[in-house]
Amino acid sequence: MDKAFITGGSRGIGSEIAKQLVYKGIKNLILGYNNSYTEAKKVADYCMEHGATVNLCQINLANIEDAQLKLKEAITQMGGIDILVNNAGITQDSLALRMNHDRWDSVLDINLKAAFFLSKTALKPMIKQRNGRIINISSIIAQKSRGGQVNYAASKGGLEAMTRALAVEVASRGITVNAIAPGWIDTEMTQDQDNQKQGQGGLESTIPVGRIGQVSDVAHLAAFLSSAEASYITGQIIAVDGGLSVRI
Ligand code: NAP
Repeated sequence: MDKAFITGGSRGIGSEIAKQLVYKGIKNLILGYNNSYTEAKKVADYCMEHGATVNLCQINLANIEDAQLKLKEAITQMGGIDILVNNAGITQDSLALRMNHDRWDSVLDINLKAAFFLSKTALKPMIKQRNGRIINISSIIAQKSRGGQVNYAASKGGLEAMTRALAVEVASRGITVNAIAPGWIDTEMTQDQDNQKQGQGGLESTIPVGRIGQVSDVAHLAAFLSSAEASYITGQIIAVDGGLSVRI
């Protein structure tokens, strides 16, 4: 297990997953980014200082055919792929009655369609080598709802169903497919929502463990699921949410 490709590796959860994989001994990493070249370069430099060979890959998941092509090139460049982390994701919030086609399609394309078609591209070499790990980053919003996110909820619900279905198809080939469902994690994605919630009396009080999650909380699990030790775990959706999803 030493060749990995991560989407959305420039910032937030994806950048920390890259670092945790390198701490665990991944030697060959391709870091996907879209707009944030400078941030991606910093993550790559950090990982290289810690012993990995890292290449950057500009990849816009809105253009799925191009994204598949870039992943294919990345696989050739690394000489294979052991781990694919479908981490990149977006929100385009709007109340249901105001939800337009663009917002629906862009969120479904990036959060769900891209994750499937990149997985399909990675599966070919993984099936050949009879070994592989696919990790999808879902969200608590697949199971619990609040206003304004029908598109995001549908994308993550679909991602979780796809994770289970794909896991069953490829399990006999030594490939595991799992999803992580983070709760509230401190990244740029949640900054506006954090501010709104803070104004309503404090976000921490809604989370059983009493704190907002950190990117490392998610990244540690991603690194474990990527390891050889996790070979008997597949088709699972694992929450990393400080108990938020089980609170009455
Ligand atoms: P973030 O800080 O906003 O980072 C998003 C990442 O996705 C960036 O690296 C960005 O790349 C990449 N990205 C966005 N649009 C892209 C596109 N069209 N093509 C390729 N890459 C694209 O988000 P985050 O909080 O780390 O979220 C990471 C994942 O966790 C997402 O799937 C999100 O839904 C999920 N999640 C997050 C939370 C949370 O509380 N933060 C909770 C549940 C689930 P560039 O910056 O290079 O454009």
